Amino acid sequence: MKKRCFLLFPNFLDKAVTLSYDDGVRQDIRLIDIMKKNKLKGTFNLNSGLFSLVKDENYRRMTKEEVIETYKDSGMEIAVHGYKHFSLAEVDTSVATADVITDRIELEKMFGKVIKGMAYGNGSYSDSVVDVLKKCGINYSRTVVSTESFVIPEDWLRLPATCHHNNPRLMELAKEFLAPRTSTRFYANPPRLFYLWGHSYEFDDNKNWNVIEEFAELVGNRDDVWYATNGEVYEYVTAFDNLQFSADNTLVYNPSALTIYLNYFGTKIKVDAGETASLL
Ligand SMILES: [Zn+2]
Repeated sequence: MKKRCFLLFPNFLDKAVTLSYDDGVRQDIRLIDIMKKNKLKGTFNLNSGLFSLVKDENYRRMTKEEVIETYKDSGMEIAVHGYKHFSLAEVDTSVATADVITDRIELEKMFGKVIKGMAYGNGSYSDSVVDVLKKCGINYSRTVVSTESFVIPEDWLRLPATCHHNNPRLMELAKEFLAPRTSTRFYANPPRLFYLWGHSYEFDDNKNWNVIEEFAELVGNRDDVWYATNGEVYEYVTAFDNLQFSADNTLVYNPSALTIYLNYFGTKIKVDAGETASLL
């Protein structure tokens, strides 16, 4: 009885949006401004062994000090992206392990937080890399796979996105995501997650900041969408999956520290942290 069709996001919402941006480049400052203006939240995946690296005019990573200043009180999540941004499927297991765990340790020291999220450098992963992540205590890791759908993830260590911001269907997908439900049967209306990813230097490379501004204006600042970081989505959905049901299926117990919201065959139920609620 852990069917995702019963899942609602906080405050009984059935739509969530999260962003995921990589590399810690200077354009993240402008991106965070746009996100904040539109109430969007997201996760910034950082390589703590590559601060200050400059590749060209647009590709300038922030210094360690700038990184702390930019993200610390931004409301955004910080996640691992590999200490040196290795393609983890192409290096020895020991190298991959060091790349993940060193980045995790450095970022945790910088931000004073437990960091359990990640995005694969160059989207590179394999089954053995996934095992490395498990050993390094990573809860979820984003790939560069786009589904062009809004399904709630099942395989958190091979996490796909809805799309990259350069996807020509971006606005079409955003409109589809926001469109009212057509069926009155609750199980035909599963909750939706829009997961957008990219690199903010690409907006300067392609001179297309309008893409993210238009997306943020359409999808942001709404009462019917939950805006969350990747980690918040992971924690909420995992807490939902960990709900315990009584043997006769009349009670639901929430052992997590989060309030969980359900649509149980059309009835909206809220189960507070550590509490039991009736399903009748
Ligand atoms: Zn990267």
